[in-house]
Amino acid sequence: MDLYDRATELETLQREHAIAAQRARAPHGESASECERCGEEIPDARRQAVPGCTRCTECESLRERGR
Ligand SMILES: [Zn+2]
Repeated sequence: MDLYDRATELETLQREHAIAAQRARAPHGESASECERCGEEIPDARRQAVPGCTRCTECESLRERGR
């Protein structure tokens, strides 16, 4: 049981590390000024809140719901 717990812990750590590495590769501070999907202007507030975003709030939420 103890061994199992450790394996799970290690797995969690590895996953967190992978996610962190993925985030580090993601673009920072280069938010698009226009949505790549509908061409609408992305509000400054969103561009600052979500560095590297390329879609407006509406398209982003549509994409998330579509998954
Ligand atoms: Zn859009």
